[in-house]
Amino acid sequence: MRHFAAVILSSLLMPMFAAAQAPYRVAIRAGKLIDGKGDKPIENALIIIEGDKIVSVTPGGTPPAGVEVLDLSKSTVLPGFIDTHTHVLLNGDITAEEYDTQLLKESIPYRAILAARNAHMALSHGFTAMRDLETEGAMYADVDVKMAIAHDEVPGPRMQVATRAMTPTGMYPLLGYSWELKVPTGVQYADGVDGVRKAVREQAMYGADWIKYYSDRRYHFEADGVLHSMVNFTDEEAKAIVEETHRLGKKVAAHAIGSDGIAAALRAGVDTIEHGDGLTDALMDEMAKKGVYWVPTITVGVYVAPGRGSNWQKMADLQRDNFPKAIKKGVKIALGTDAGGFDWKVLNQAKEFEYYVQYGMTSMQAIRAGTSVPAELLGWSDKVGTIEAGKWADLVAVSGDPLKDITELQRVKFVMKAGVVFKKDAN
Ligand SMILES: [Zn+2]
Repeated sequence: MRHFAAVILSSLLMPMFAAAQAPYRVAIRAGKLIDGKGDKPIENALIIIEGDKIVSVTPGGTPPAGVEVLDLSKSTVLPGFIDTHTHVLLNGDITAEEYDTQLLKESIPYRAILAARNAHMALSHGFTAMRDLETEGAMYADVDVKMAIAHDEVPGPRMQVATRAMTPTGMYPLLGYSWELKVPTGVQYADGVDGVRKAVREQAMYGADWIKYYSDRRYHFEADGVLHSMVNFTDEEAKAIVEETHRLGKKVAAHAIGSDGIAAALRAGVDTIEHGDGLTDALMDEMAKKGVYWVPTITVGVYVAPGRGSNWQKMADLQRDNFPKAIKKGVKIALGTDAGGFDWKVLNQAKEFEYYVQYGMTSMQAIRAGTSVPAELLGWSDKVGTIEAGKWADLVAVSGDPLKDITELQRVKFVMKAGVVFKKDAN
């Protein structure tokens, strides 16, 4: 209501104060600019911002008279980072015990308060947009977090959210409790073609931008050396989820770790494969051909392996081996960390960039995987992901050269979102 009233008021006053209401302009002098498009940084760039948008980017140049200049001449400026796989409502689940405790002992309001804190931390680490991929039992609270950020009530990245995610009955925790107890579930259980269609409609009704489902569980290596898994939905159900979601103009993310789960998700026609540890050459070829994104979430895989034991280390190793193959085959790789699967306070999401370079990307490829590629995944290529005229003024700066040392991205000194400076540390 407040916003509604403000709009009316400003339109009434408009004729009188039109001249005084010119949007605020600010200029940034960047020592080096990695704009997310060019192959080389632009030296001594001048970025002019008007309101929440970038109006021009030029090498050299003089700022217009009377415009405030933010001096980042000793820094490298980059587009704001984008993480396409997070859980703001979760705070670590290395063990099943940790996960169960959050669902059983923490109220959804308490978890939402922590989610606001997590979103704040993500923004201070340079993440100006995120796709949050399910609330893990916190129902539709991600829609509330997204709304509070969008209304400027709390600081955080721009968000697209998936709400509850789904599996068939009994295929996701909480499990193992007495049948006499009614315990919460980490996802929405949905069964049958009509059941999954209804779940998609319900989640869309309450604000889901994406639909997420769990394609598989029980990951195990077999004698063929391939990582296999048990597939959750029948093909008819999975296809119905995708068809219904696309019919509503939204997209589908599938959690798929084993090769069987990935194959089933690709048969169903999903838009993104989450984790994808068990990718085979044939599956990578299929993803490249169909333009399906791979969101590898390496940070969480490496982090939870020691705590989870059994196959998890082998799965992390497999992902490391697959990564350079996927690059070579032209699979679209979008940065995603699974933050929340690890404690937000322990790891900086920007660690993911470091793994991408370690596993075979150039620094520039890694930067694009966390800026322009996810912008495309989100359907926001015209708004974020690069620094150019017409885009939202979402940008970050670091003191060193990330092309020489990618870990610089874990030490972001300056963050601007929608033209507003959120963080400015001394160099
Ligand atoms: Zn996840």
